[in-house]
Amino acid sequence: MPKATVTDPAPKGGKQPAPRPVSVKVLFQTYAVIWMRDDIWRGCDLTSNDNIGEHNPVLGTMRIRLVPGATENYLRETLLHEILHSCWAMSDLNEKPLPADEDQEENIIARVSHLLATIILDNPDVFAYIGAQLYKKKAPQ
Ligand SMILES: [Zn+2]
Repeated sequence: MPKATVTDPAPKGGKQPAPRPVSVKVLFQTYAVIWMRDDIWRGCDLTSNDNIGEHNPVLGTMRIRLVPGATENYLRETLLHEILHSCWAMSDLNEKPLPADEDQEENIIARVSHLLATIILDNPDVFAYIGAQLYKKKAPQ
C-alpha cells in the first residue's frame, strides 16, 4: 500500500516530511490507518459526524477524518489521540476502575506510559509522522 503524502510541503531545498502512516501496531493489534475524505466520512455508517477520528479494536482500524482545511499538525495530533484511546482500552482502565485510595495520576500514567513506550519503539514511521520528523532524503527542487 503506498504511503500517503502530507499537505505541509517541504521547504525549498529542505527535506521531505515523513508521510502519513498506513498502519500502527498497538501491542498485539495492528491497526490499518485510514485517512478518510470528509465526504466519505459523512456517508459512512461506521463513523460519527461529530468525530474527527475513531479507532475500532475489533475491526483493527483507525480512521482519521480529512477535515477540509485541516492542517497536517491537526491530523498528526488526531492520530496520536486515537493511539491513546487504544492504549486506554488495552490498559484495562475501562474495566478496572482504580481504587479511590490509590494515587490515580501515577497509576494511570504508569499504565499508559508502558504501553506508549512500546508503541513508539514498534512504530518509528508513525512517530516520525506525528513528530513531523524529516526524512534524510532531499525534496525535489
Ligand atoms: Zn477521543
